[in-house]
Parts: sequence; C-alpha cells; structure tokens
Amino acid sequence: AEEALRQAQKMEAVGQLTGGVAHDFNNLLTVIIGGLETLRRAGAAEEARAKRALDMALQGAQRAAGLTSRLLAFSRRQPLEPKPLDLNILVRDMTDLLHRTLGEQIELEGVLAPRLWSVEADQNQLESALINLAVNARDAMPEGGKLTIETANTELSDHYAAQDAEVIPGQYVMISVSDSGSGMSRETLARVFEPFFTTKEVGRGTGLGLSMVYGFVKQSGGHVTVYSEEGQGTTVKLYFPRHHAVAAPQKAAGPETAPSGV
Ligand code: ADP
Repeated sequence: AEEALRQAQKMEAVGQLTGGVAHDFNNLLTVIIGGLETLRRAGAAEEARAKRALDMALQGAQRAAGLTSRLLAFSRRQPLEPKPLDLNILVRDMTDLLHRTLGEQIELEGVLAPRLWSVEADQNQLESALINLAVNARDAMPEGGKLTIETANTELSDHYAAQDAEVIPGQYVMISVSDSGSGMSRETLARVFEPFFTTKEVGRGTGLGLSMVYGFVKQSGGHVTVYSEEGQGTTVKLYFPRHHAVAAPQKAAGPETAPSGV
C-alpha cells in the first residue's frame, strides 16, 4: 500500500512537473521559431542546402511546440486545491507515516513554533513534498541519524529579496527538513532542482523529487532554499506566504463559474 501511495505521488509529481517544464519549454520554442521564420523571410539561406536545413529546423521546432501543448493539456488534469492549513497540525498528523518512512535507525524531531500562522496550500501536495524530503534525508543517512522538522513564522526582508529577484518581501511560514546525512557536493547542490537529475542508482532515484517540491512551492507563491555541507547534512527550507483570513463580503451567491484555464 505504501509503495502504491509513493507511485501515485510520483505520477502526480510527473504531471505537475511536466506542466512547468512544458510551459517554460514552450516559451523557448516561441523564441526559436520566431528567429527561424525571420531568417527564412529575410532570405538568409541563399544556398539550397542551407535553406533545407532551415526548413528542417523550423519544422522540428513546430513539432516540438505541438508536443508541449499536449503535455500542458495532460498536466492540467491535476489542478492544485489550496485551502488554509496549519503546518504544525499537518506535521503532527504525518508523524506515524514519517516514522515508517525513516525506519528505526533515524530519530525524528519536531521543533514546532507556537502560534504558527496558517498558509494556503494544497494539502496532498504538501504531504508528498514532505515525504519526498524525508525519503531524500533517509537515503542520505544509510547508517542512521537524525531528521529535524522545524516550523517558524518568518519575515522575508527587502534584504533577502535583494539576493533573490523572485522573492517578494513579506510574511511567510517556514517549514524545514534537516538531516545529519552525507550532504552534497557543490556540483550536486547546483543541480538539485533539475528534473531527472539524480545521483542515485537506476531504479532508486527518479530525479523528480526536488523538482516537484520546487514546482509546487513556487506555484503556491513560496520559495525554496537548500543548504548542504558535505559530511554534515542538508537542510531544505520551504517558505509559504502567510494566509490572511479575510472575511468574505456577504454578497448574494452568484452563479458558479467554471475555473478558467491557464
Ligand atoms: P532523487 O531523490 O530521485 O535522486 P531528487 O530530485 O529528490 O531526486 O534529488 C536529486 C539529488 O539531490 C539526489 O539524487 C541527491 O544526490 C541529492 N539530494 C537530495 N536531497 C538530499 C539530501 N537530503 N542529502 C543529500 N543529497 C540529497
């Protein structure tokens, strides 16, 4: 049952990841196709051979664009369902599952902040993100060790935002997963969010875990950071925007509108 759960979560991750990659890839293709078309119109390819090469490149890029729209359609079948969540409660409810995931050699510690703000996120995705992080931590601690889950209310300052252009300053809830495992080399650390990047043997790693976590957190308006020291361990921090509960205006309920596509 646990394996089936993991498999389902992997498939979900693939769907979500596919959407993100397809979207970005499509933007790149638009640039490539535009460039090729300009070249062809400008008559840049005088020679027949060059002209054929240009046409082939254009056709290839157009076929690839068709493929990405199919991928986008596929991944849209798994929309996020954000709702207000208390991450402390989520972690507490996952304790048993986490213990079973980690095994007996790994100690689990929770450092949960009192009066934690709530966040608005998809619960299933959050749970599978935490399981992914726990599985990575377990794999980094084959001889056993310690896994710490910490939560905190955090203010991401302008200073922080200045270091990372994508960070919007404001109030966030931080949840981190730290392990006392092998840590990563600089080369690995630089590539952890790359889809399909794995240092694990075939059949053990898909290389989708952290890219899925990254995609989900970004889609939720948050941020991810990874700190790792070879031989010391790794800390992955997820930041979710604080959910400000706003009382909905008491309007007469209108007709339900279907959610619009991307
Ligand atoms: P996978 O776990 O399937 O390899 P991920 O995207 O989750 O895919 O991770 C990519 C790589 O990042 C791993 O193969 C591993 O080298 C490294 N990594 C991730 N988490 C940790 C960790 N907690 N400790 C050490 N290395 C890690």
